[in-house]
Amino acid sequence: VDSLGSEVDAKVADDIAEDDLLGGLEIESTDEVEIPDRLVDQVIGQDHARDIILKAAKQRRHVMMIGSPGTGKSMLAKAMSQLLPKEDLQDVLVYHNPDDGNEPKVRTVPAGKGEQIIEAHKEEARKRNQMRSFLMWVIIAIVVGYALLLAGRPLLGILAAGVIYLAFRYGSRGTDAMIPNLLVNNSDVTSAPFEDATGAHAGALLGDVRHDPFQSGGMETPSHDRVEPGAIHKANKGVLFVDEINTLDIRSQQKLMTAIQEGEFSITGQSERSSGAMVHTEPVPTDFVMVAAGNLDAMENMHPALRSRIKGYGYEVYMDDTIDDTPEMRRKYARFVAQEVEKDGRLPHFTDTAVEEVILEAQRRAMRKDHLTLKLRDLGGLVRVAGDIARAEDAENTTRDHVLQAKQRSRSIEQQIADDYIERRKDYDLTVSAGDVVGRVNGLAVMGEDSGIVMPVMAEVAPSQGPGKVIATGKLQDIAEEAVQNVSAIIKKFSDEDISEKDIHIQYVQAYEGVQGDSASVTMATAVISALENIPIDQSIAMTGSLSVRGDVLPVGGVTHKIEAAAKAGVETVIIPKANEQDVMIEEEYEEMVEIIPVSHISEVLEVALTGESEKDSLINRLKDITGHALDRKVGG
Ligand code: ADP
Repeated sequence: VDSLGSEVDAKVADDIAEDDLLGGLEIESTDEVEIPDRLVDQVIGQDHARDIILKAAKQRRHVMMIGSPGTGKSMLAKAMSQLLPKEDLQDVLVYHNPDDGNEPKVRTVPAGKGEQIIEAHKEEARKRNQMRSFLMWVIIAIVVGYALLLAGRPLLGILAAGVIYLAFRYGSRGTDAMIPNLLVNNSDVTSAPFEDATGAHAGALLGDVRHDPFQSGGMETPSHDRVEPGAIHKANKGVLFVDEINTLDIRSQQKLMTAIQEGEFSITGQSERSSGAMVHTEPVPTDFVMVAAGNLDAMENMHPALRSRIKGYGYEVYMDDTIDDTPEMRRKYARFVAQEVEKDGRLPHFTDTAVEEVILEAQRRAMRKDHLTLKLRDLGGLVRVAGDIARAEDAENTTRDHVLQAKQRSRSIEQQIADDYIERRKDYDLTVSAGDVVGRVNGLAVMGEDSGIVMPVMAEVAPSQGPGKVIATGKLQDIAEEAVQNVSAIIKKFSDEDISEKDIHIQYVQAYEGVQGDSASVTMATAVISALENIPIDQSIAMTGSLSVRGDVLPVGGVTHKIEAAAKAGVETVIIPKANEQDVMIEEEYEEMVEIIPVSHISEVLEVALTGESEKDSLINRLKDITGHALDRKVGG
């Protein structure tokens, strides 16, 4: 099955496949999905970066890739090395220099020749040694024969034989020194080299000369034999990839720049105290294409000259975090699952419904309407965990159930803390999800990037001695003040209570370290209004939303995670901003558990959350009067 089909097929498929998670792809398992040969064709999304890599490979230009981890930067760099011509590859040999032992000579030959040269040298040395030992035994035979038969002094004969033996042994040492050191060997490679020098120390990046503990007296290793190549030398005619480029120390960045500029770089010992530091080879070729990568602040901290070097002689490209969720893309994500399975080599292929579940996760992780996440390293992690679970069960295929288990298992640290926290709170019964209480609202917040949590807010209003204050616990002071300010404009108009003469206390019940509170203003406003008017709030409801001065409910982040957290905590109804309606992508198991009510104005929130019919009705009628037409649609009926 050609998973991507022809363009016409794809168009037809797209029309019927809008709702199909696999984008119209009909497979039983990912085993049937064809994977392109070239790595560059396996890259999903990142069209801009792909185009640049193709172009840069042709023109041998440097590339700088900026973007989130796990979006395919090193994959593209590797793909680039496969696009470079193999014919140009070279072997590099280091020879003993008879004039100056500390300045070994460097020779470059076409790839494959290096091994032949070494072989020839060894063969020659072998022959020479054979010749020598033949000669040695002949001389020994003559001397011993002479001593025994003619001189009649056997002891002297044996002694003389020993001396001759040692002399030959010692003398032949020099011939080994003549065999060159094959520094870079490209004889068996299938494509131009790809060298990943991320986090490399100076020696690994720039080459090194090993220390020689003997240094003289016939025991020493000749200096040319102690020379070791760096990544810049091994990457010759290929790609040198450096991720997190800004973490490379400045000296190394400077030397890297020299290597790029000169196209060659001598190797010397990197540690000053070692005898290797005395050795300095002739220049070794470093004619590589550099692919530097990092996140946004990598650019700020990287050596400006190095950056301008890359910029002046190459391209800069920004990596995408998400991509439009289209049927074609979904088919590619199915191929992504197949790629990851093939790459691992041991995982059972995924069934169609298992792939659907991965694509659902890609939607959820995009955190953006109608998009799929391109943080594919992490998504690949999910694929591997699911596959491992299937493999442990000896299953023939990885199924939807395995993927669901994997999601459970591959929770982030924040998620694990949040779940643990929810568990503990259940023990203490802190989350109230039944009954009516004045001034208490189940708010919803996000922990880390992807964990929702129920965070009850309590408000109390008391007459103030001086001018009224808003008093909140912890870091939430600013948010609390802003929320109260926003509601106060509305409250002033319908309430007889003058809140400027009151202290409003707002408390988060067990606020938790690491919780983001920016989306809590609707929650706080509701709690304050309830406390002020003494109208109870239905505790089976949780809510999230940001509030404008006019009482509009504005969109917030993380609604999916928040709704799931509410469902887990036993909440029955969740109020969310209407503008967030399309961001809701909760897992099936939760759909049955909660009712979701999208709202666009605070009066709608109160309509749903407040209990005690008569007071509530009068309050909402007053609110409606004030805020006018904005409410007519929803509240009137
Ligand atoms: P980065 O260098 O941006 O941190 P990598 O290229 O190392 O990310 O990505 C790690 C792995 O994730 C890749 O080997 C590949 O399996 C998968 N991956 C990441 N991005 C993509 C992509 N755009 N298309 C296909 N696979 C990807």
